[in-house]
Amino acid sequence: MSVREKPFIGVIGGSGLYDPEFFEETKEIKVHTPYGPPSDNIVLGRIKDRWIAFLPRHGRGHKIPPHKINYRANIWALYSLGVKRIIAVSACGSLRKDYEPGDFVLPDQFVDMTKTRVYSFYDGPKVAHIQIGLEPFCPELREIIKSAGEKLGIKIHPKGTYICIEGPRFSTKAESWIWKEVFKCDIIGMTLVPEINLARELGMCYATIALVTDYDIWFGHVVDAKMVVEVMKKNIENAKKLLYEVLPKVPEEKHCACEKVLETAFL
Ligand SMILES: [Zn+2]
Repeated sequence: MSVREKPFIGVIGGSGLYDPEFFEETKEIKVHTPYGPPSDNIVLGRIKDRWIAFLPRHGRGHKIPPHKINYRANIWALYSLGVKRIIAVSACGSLRKDYEPGDFVLPDQFVDMTKTRVYSFYDGPKVAHIQIGLEPFCPELREIIKSAGEKLGIKIHPKGTYICIEGPRFSTKAESWIWKEVFKCDIIGMTLVPEINLARELGMCYATIALVTDYDIWFGHVVDAKMVVEVMKKNIENAKKLLYEVLPKVPEEKHCACEKVLETAFL
């Protein structure tokens, strides 16, 4: 069996997913970027005949909060290794009753309510306006993940609008109601933006597996970090099984428009 050495798939692990022990073999590398250090060393992990690049978004041991993550360094580090398609795993809160804690969601749209982040690789004089409106998440990756989840019997919702808040605090009840009732969003988290748009600026595919940990405060329950971690532990086992099923199935050849946006992005 020939092993493909260069990783074209990257996995960004969220809360709870720091060590990718579902790989059959691993090696660790330190990657330098023009934007400073990424959240941690990149682990190159092998599943069957391919190597995959894995990066824990918050660093191992969850040392970096969402608003302090060096998103540009993380995305650049993966890109510099040859990654063309990213599957991100993220904890999220639910803004609707039928998306229950323990369920998985594959968001297809997002709303950005972050405030202080660095959103682009192009800060001038080169300027880019990338097209991300119609399909911000790679439809081909979403379809592969959905099929694999169904095969494994995981409750996986194929659509949802993800609202990204600045954090690190959780929403107030008033805010939560706005996200739910006015903005009509389905799930809430703190890390999607600018990860998703930076990936698109480099022509990479990006999809999120969102793991529901709690109902946000609109439901009347107080969200605390400890509660989130408890549900997360259960979710993580399923997420690892899902990744093990999905990663060998992702084709290197793209059948989506994620990369084509670069043709019209520059002035
Ligand atoms: Zn794509």
